[in-house]
Amino acid sequence: MPKQTAYILVGPPGAGKGTQSELLVDNLNLKVIQPGVFLRKEAKNNTEVGILIEGLISYGMIVPDEFVDKRVYTALSRNTRDILFDGYPRTTGQAEKLAGYLKKNHINTYFIQITLPEKLIIERINGRRSCHCGETYHIKHNPPKKFGICDKCGQKLYIRTDSRKPVIRKRVKLYHEQTEPVIKYFQKRHDVRMTFIKVNGNRDIDKVHADIMAAISKTA
Ligand SMILES: [Zn+2]
Repeated sequence: MPKQTAYILVGPPGAGKGTQSELLVDNLNLKVIQPGVFLRKEAKNNTEVGILIEGLISYGMIVPDEFVDKRVYTALSRNTRDILFDGYPRTTGQAEKLAGYLKKNHINTYFIQITLPEKLIIERINGRRSCHCGETYHIKHNPPKKFGICDKCGQKLYIRTDSRKPVIRKRVKLYHEQTEPVIKYFQKRHDVRMTFIKVNGNRDIDKVHADIMAAISKTA
C-alpha cells in the first residue's frame, strides 16, 4: 500500500479555512475529516443530542472529545486516500490520539496554520453567510453569484449564530487556547513525521492557496 499523507489545517475563525480546505481537497483529491460540518448538521436535528450540540456551538463552547472521536476514527477506518483534517484535533487529548494513529500508519503529515490579525477576524466574520449544505460565503470577499442564494445547491443562505460579535471573540480566544497546546504537543512528538507550515491569511483566496501548495511542494 502506498504511503499516505495527511494535512492538518488550522486557522482562526474568519481566516478562510473552510475555503482553503475545499481547494486542498479538490486539488489533492483528499478525504476530508471535518467534525465541524458534521456537528452543525447534527445540531439541526431536534433530538436530545442535536439540542445539546446546538447549545454548545451557539455559545462558542467545545463538544466533548469522545463524541467527535468516534466519528473521526470510523471515517478513517474506511479510508485509503490522503487525508485532510479540518477543525481537528481541537484538544491535546485528540492530538495525542491522532499522533498515535499517524505514527502507527507511517503517515507523513503537514500541519498548516493560516494566520490572521484579530481585528480582521471580526470584520470578516460579520459578512459571513452559510448554507445548510456546508458551503460558506462572504458578502465582500466571496459573494454568491445570486444574492443570498447558495451557488452550489440553490438554498437560502443564513447567518450562523456563532457569527455574532461576542461569540466571535469567544471563538478567537478559544481557538488560541486550543490550537497553541495542540501545536506544542505535536512539536514535542518527534516520533511523528510532521512539517509545520505558516501562511498569511490576509490575502486573496487564490494567493493563500498558492502559498500553501508552494510550501507543501518545497518540503515534499
Ligand atoms: Zn448550499
